[in-house]
Amino acid sequence: MRVHEKRLDIAADVAALTKRNKSIGFVPTMGALHEGHLALVKRAIKENEIVLVSIFVNPTQFNNSQDLVNYPRTLPSDVRLLSELSENIIVFAPTPKDVYGDQMSSIDYDFGGLENEMEGKYRPGHFDGVGTVLKHLFTIVSPTRAYFGEKDFQQLQIVKKLVEIEKLSVQIVGCPIYREKTGLALSSRNKRLNDKQLAVSPMIYKTLKQIKKDFGTKSVYKLSEWVSEQFENNEVLTLEYFEIAKVSDLKSIKRKQKNTKYRAFIAVFAGEIRLIDNIALN
Ligand code: AMP
Repeated sequence: MRVHEKRLDIAADVAALTKRNKSIGFVPTMGALHEGHLALVKRAIKENEIVLVSIFVNPTQFNNSQDLVNYPRTLPSDVRLLSELSENIIVFAPTPKDVYGDQMSSIDYDFGGLENEMEGKYRPGHFDGVGTVLKHLFTIVSPTRAYFGEKDFQQLQIVKKLVEIEKLSVQIVGCPIYREKTGLALSSRNKRLNDKQLAVSPMIYKTLKQIKKDFGTKSVYKLSEWVSEQFENNEVLTLEYFEIAKVSDLKSIKRKQKNTKYRAFIAVFAGEIRLIDNIALN
C-alpha cells in the first residue's frame, strides 16, 4: 500500500498506471473513515484494477471555521483500515498547499441552480469549494470512475454537473447510504456526538421513513408541519431544514406532480454538530 503526500509523487504513480491502461477507481474523502466510506472503496475495488483514496479535509468547503478546526483527523487509523481491505490501494493525503499551491481559493461555479438549494443556502460557498477541490483532484488522479455517497445527495448531483461543465471523462458512480443498525447515517461527524446525542439521533432517519410512508396520502404542507412538530420540543436536536425536493433540479416543492421523482432532505444540529440525511420517496 502506498501513501503519497506530494502531488508530484501521486502524479508519477498515476502516469505509470495510465500508461499501462489500468482502470482507476477514485474515492475522494475527508478521512476519519467509517464503514460508509469503506463501502464506496469496496465497490471501487470490484469495478477497477487500481483504487485511489484521497484523504483531505478541504478548507474551501467549510463555511464554519470552527467546524473545520474540529473536523476529526485520523490518518494513521484511516490508512490501517484501508490496508485491511486491500494492499492495492493508493492513498493520497496532501496538504492544502499540495492541492492549491499558494492560492487557496474557490472557483465561482454555476451548477445550474443546484448550488442554491438546501446545503447551498445554509452553507454559502460550500459547493464552490467542493467543485474546486474535485476539479484539482480529478486533474491529478485522472480516474476512470469516481465514487460518491447518496448520503450527500446534493453533492452527488453537483459532481455530475461539474463533470459536464469541466468536460471530464470520469464516470460518476452514486452509492447507497450506509447506516448504523439504529438507522443513523454514518458520518465522520458522528464521532463527536456524546452519548445522549447518539441515543436521540436515530430519530432523524425514523422521521424520514415515516415521511416516505405517508408521502402517497398526505400533502407536502402536512408532512412538513409534522416534521417541524417532531423537533419542536426536542432538547437535543434542532431542525435546520426539512424539504421535499425534485430529484432532477433539487427545487423544493409545495405540491406533488405525477411522473416526478422526489426525495426528502433534512439537516439538524446536535449541539454544534451538523447532521444531514435524505431518503428517496417514490
Ligand atoms: P466525506 O469524507 O464526508 O467527504 O465523504 C466522502 C464520501 O463518502 C462522500 O461521497 C460521501 O457521500 C460518502 N459517504 C459519507 N458517509 C456515507 C454513508 N453513511 N453512506 C454512504 N456514503 C457515505
